[in-house]
Amino acid sequence: MDLTIYQNCPSCGAEIELNEADRLIRCPYCDVQNFMVTRGPLRFVLPDKVPDHIRREDIFYAPYLRFKGNIYYCKGRHLKYKVVDTTQQGTDGSVLPLSLGLRPQAMPVSLVTDEVSGKFLRQTIKVKTLLERAALLTVIDSENIKAPFYHRAYVGETLSCIYLPLYVEQDVLYDAVTNTALGRGDSIEKMQTHAMQYKSSWAPHFLATLCPHCGDSLTAAHDSLILNCKNCHSSWEEKQGGFQKIKWNAVETAFKEMYHLPFWKLSVRASGIEMKNFADFLRVTNQPLVIQGWHREQELSFLLPAFKLKPSTFLGLGKNMTLRQGEIPHGEQQIPKKLHPVTLDRKEAIQALKSVLAGSALNKRNLLPQLPHVRFHTLDTDLTYLPFFDKGHDYVQEQTGISLAKSVLHFGRKL
Ligand SMILES: [Zn+2]
Ligand SMILES: [Zn+2]
Repeated sequence: MDLTIYQNCPSCGAEIELNEADRLIRCPYCDVQNFMVTRGPLRFVLPDKVPDHIRREDIFYAPYLRFKGNIYYCKGRHLKYKVVDTTQQGTDGSVLPLSLGLRPQAMPVSLVTDEVSGKFLRQTIKVKTLLERAALLTVIDSENIKAPFYHRAYVGETLSCIYLPLYVEQDVLYDAVTNTALGRGDSIEKMQTHAMQYKSSWAPHFLATLCPHCGDSLTAAHDSLILNCKNCHSSWEEKQGGFQKIKWNAVETAFKEMYHLPFWKLSVRASGIEMKNFADFLRVTNQPLVIQGWHREQELSFLLPAFKLKPSTFLGLGKNMTLRQGEIPHGEQQIPKKLHPVTLDRKEAIQALKSVLAGSALNKRNLLPQLPHVRFHTLDTDLTYLPFFDKGHDYVQEQTGISLAKSVLHFGRKL
């Protein structure tokens, strides 16, 4: 489930409603477009109904950590995965509710700004612990498998912090969203002594969406991580608070009205496994193909979706595109008319490499035990837009005939 967020327009101050995944913010009032940059998790606060006689500066906020993403793991001869969306207590406090339940999805949240008075309880549970707990949720699936554990990866995750507003009246702690009493006790005072003020480093900052090369406006979908300039045909990603040019190409097509989907072409060097070129990849994953000379000359590279998909589709498409990449010509630097946004950055795609390797193997029994020793060193990345025919319910890739259901793409934008 997505969060609905209220955020003030960085240009005119008007309140805008956003989705959790939105990066490009177009203000409907002043029509200015900004790209949101964050350092660390975004911090939100739930709306409160604090009674008037409680001073705003006496409100305090308890952190809850939210993890949303896909977990892949390999155990025995199985590759498994799970979509996880969990919110858990970020501070130790026995009187606090263990989780926020469905509240973050049921009500709009606001980004924490310096206008929020009151204090914030320190996050005492480490992110690493939260990730381990999120992984434990997949144990439900894995505990039936009595076999050695080989690999685990988090892919396409969002981590955020949602604050629950609280206040104390006559020694009783109240949940300020519903004004219900949570309890009393020494722990309330102890919690508050570790509270801190708002930090300016929590706030996202905004970049004007102008092409650093030619000054024209950059365009992208609201949830895209990559922005394009249709004037000078360049492509940009945010890095260290500015836009940086990326290497990209779009495969040309003679057909009109094609839809282009983005893929990361990752050229890698593998260690811990005998895999130097594409022929080795075919051999290691036992593909039913006669290995030919040109397979040996082809470098070791993966072609993975640069957009979020549910795990089974991601693995299938990553495998098929990687196997068929030899059929796809190198493209040009011409921004296509209809583009699917890049919603999975290259770091996430790199994190998925071992899972795609495992998913490609027909005989998992031999490959999976090698995974703990395998390392991929990325030599080069190239964002590649591939043309797809629009066939009603499906998109079909022009060169390979590989198809993808539209519903799956639509679902992926909510992951
Ligand atoms: Zn505005
Ligand atoms: Zn430009």
